[in-house]
Amino acid sequence: MLIIRCAACKRKLWRYDKIGPGEVLRCHKDRIKKIFGAQIRDGRVYCSCGKDIGIDKGSFYKMIAKAFTYRGTKRNS
Ligand SMILES: [Zn+2]
Repeated sequence: MLIIRCAACKRKLWRYDKIGPGEVLRCHKDRIKKIFGAQIRDGRVYCSCGKDIGIDKGSFYKMIAKAFTYRGTKRNS
């Protein structure tokens, strides 16, 4: 499980069940386990500090590179 954080203010945004070793380019909504400081507004994802984090693409959020950091473990299957 990964903790996704805002790169600007370091707030926790959500907990994400990442499958596979690749970079986090998208966050699939059905694998977001708990939302902390993120807000969805007009099809975009914001941190509560106002920073742009991603774009709502329906079943997933397309993440904006460098807007977030993460730590934790990815799983293989
Ligand atoms: Zn923030």
